[in-house]
Amino acid sequence: MLDLSFKEPEPKVIHGAREDWELVIGMEVHAQVASKAKLFSGASTEFGAEPNYNVAFVDAAMPGMLPVINEFCVEQAVRTGLGLKARINLFSAFDRKNYFYPDLPQGYQISQLYHPIVGEGEVLVDMGPGVARRVRIERIHIEQDAGKSIHDMDPDVTFVDLNRTGVALMEIVSRPDIRGPEEAAAYVAKLRQIMRYLGTCDGNMQSGNLRADVNVSVCRPGAYERFRETGDHSVLGTRCEIKNMNSLRFIQQAIDYEARRQIAILEDGGEIVQETRLFDPNKGETRSMRSKEEAHDYRYFPCPDLLPLEIEAEWVERIAASLPELPDEKKARFLAEYGVTEYDAGVLTAEREAADFFEEVARGRDGKMAANWVINELFGRLNKEGLSVAQSPVSASQLGTIIDLIAKGDISGKIAKDLFEIVWTEGGDPAEIVEARGMKQVTDTGAIEKAVDEVIAANPAQVEKARENPKLAGWFVGQVMKATGGKANPKAVNEIVRQKLGL
Ligand code: ADP
Ligand code: MG
Repeated sequence: MLDLSFKEPEPKVIHGAREDWELVIGMEVHAQVASKAKLFSGASTEFGAEPNYNVAFVDAAMPGMLPVINEFCVEQAVRTGLGLKARINLFSAFDRKNYFYPDLPQGYQISQLYHPIVGEGEVLVDMGPGVARRVRIERIHIEQDAGKSIHDMDPDVTFVDLNRTGVALMEIVSRPDIRGPEEAAAYVAKLRQIMRYLGTCDGNMQSGNLRADVNVSVCRPGAYERFRETGDHSVLGTRCEIKNMNSLRFIQQAIDYEARRQIAILEDGGEIVQETRLFDPNKGETRSMRSKEEAHDYRYFPCPDLLPLEIEAEWVERIAASLPELPDEKKARFLAEYGVTEYDAGVLTAEREAADFFEEVARGRDGKMAANWVINELFGRLNKEGLSVAQSPVSASQLGTIIDLIAKGDISGKIAKDLFEIVWTEGGDPAEIVEARGMKQVTDTGAIEKAVDEVIAANPAQVEKARENPKLAGWFVGQVMKATGGKANPKAVNEIVRQKLGL
């Protein structure tokens, strides 16, 4: 059994002018399904296509067109549910959410209100070594995305682009278990990581493939605990919802601002009005967008164009069997198997490709040393050059060979860094490079003794000092290393220096 034990972090406390307050946050995350085709049509989901190019008749709501469910999208929602350890509902159904918007030609969005495909699950949000927040998932439902209104192309006219209309979204709804701005950002990052492992959403926040509606309320210490004991939402404060956040940094800023705004109102004797707000990144403020709408405002009703979605338990089991090892399990295994620190295990498992690369390097080698080289040299360098692991000029096998050469004592750690540089820029077999360029460490004691003798003979004053203060032996080691171009085995040099100085 892998050890996934942790303790939950303290909630963030905000000191108001009069009282202490705590934050309560729940999120509705919209994740675009990584599918080539839309939810109910065969039109492409390709990003950046010419406006209104990827639009099937049904996406444009032409009369008489009927939606046909895309099985692949359903499978991705089930995979995501399984990845969040959630209950999969074998029966789910689609509902129409009616509202007018120019980028919604149907006049309604097809969603799942009453019978979502995924029920309760949970996510562990890592908040430092041994500390994690357990955020409960309430549900995941499948729905269509809307198109895009373009207001900034012409001063007088708004254009509409229907390419995104009908693209499949998974809406992941959390319980209000998130207790601070950092946790909120880390929660979205964790969902993103899990979905990237699963391959169900690419998590690209810039292109809007992952965006969050953030519900924020504040309460006095103790209220949240009462909510957890009783399940009674009314002991919590009234919330405001900040719509459509697609940056982790903005999510944190918006929550910070919103919490302070609400606290100021409450301490002034006012009341929070439940409403939908927008974050303005330029001002760092949230502002009111509209008063809170209720489900009944949308006149939801079961979509008559689609049969309920009934899936088979065997199909779900087959999907479950095909899931990859997920981040929490991988991290726990890395800790146990390779003896790396929790921090390093977190870095190594951030992306599946990175973890695979590390394992190829670490197999049959010292895990800590492999982690060190992969994280500090390789990832450090890739970050600097803006490259992904897949684009790394140094392969796992090349890096493994470099580590072997150090372990065998053929090269020192310092020379290994030069070697890494050569392999990075020129490629080639590291072992052959070491041979061909005479980079091998000198372990021949005769040669080292000679170099030590020369340094001692040339520096009689230093010898005197070192005999009184043995710490100065290091200076001789440094001189010998310099004289041998860094190729002498430092351990051997150290021993011989001490012996010759009589220390
Ligand atoms: P509605 O039905 O009005 O949309 P939900 O109960 O579905 O409300 O909740 C929507 C989101 O708001 C969920 O993510 C939930 O966790 C969150 N939420 C509910 N109550 C609060 C609260 N008091 N403070 C912060 N978030 C909340
Ligand atoms: Mg809701």
